Amino acid sequence: MQQSTSVKDYIRTIVDFPHEGIMFRDVTTLFANPRGFRMAIDQLLHPYAGMQIDKVVGLEARGFILGGAIAHQLSKGFVPVRKKGKLPAATIAEEYQLEYGSAVVEIHDDALSAGEKVLIVDDLLATGGTAEAGIKLCERLGAEVIGCAFVVDLPDLGGRRRLEALGIDVHALCD
Ligand code: AMP
Repeated sequence: MQQSTSVKDYIRTIVDFPHEGIMFRDVTTLFANPRGFRMAIDQLLHPYAGMQIDKVVGLEARGFILGGAIAHQLSKGFVPVRKKGKLPAATIAEEYQLEYGSAVVEIHDDALSAGEKVLIVDDLLATGGTAEAGIKLCERLGAEVIGCAFVVDLPDLGGRRRLEALGIDVHALCD
């Protein structure tokens, strides 16, 4: 009998990367597999069928790969949220806390219009700090975040609770 595969089966875990104690969930093996990649894009979009989405916002860097494919599938525009200093035109910025120190992400200040409905996409939800910063950037431009979609949720790190406390709908394909 043929075994059915899930998105999770295509994700590789690298122990102690980039630091000791981190279990890095490597989605490059998912992206490299045509069946896995198609499955991931279709499943990320599934809960939003019939909903209005005007733009897809991807978080650097793996959110660009997923978000680009999703935007293409929807025939909608794609908007990158990038680490500080990478975007060429005028930006707005949000700082967020990391385990050690902080990070800053930016969006072009003309990338979204007031009232646009956006879907935010990234590969993995951990503490939710990156996604929360992305949500704030979209909302500061007047857009409405209709959801955040991830391939992997690490539930012990509390990201889902953090985003849901902001009133954001969270969708993840696996834990
Ligand atoms: P956070 O802001 O804590 O939710 O972290 C999410 C961001 O960090 C995402 O862009 C992920 O790609 C990356 N990330 C955090 N932890 C991991 C992990 N264990 N494996 C792979 N990527 C991770």
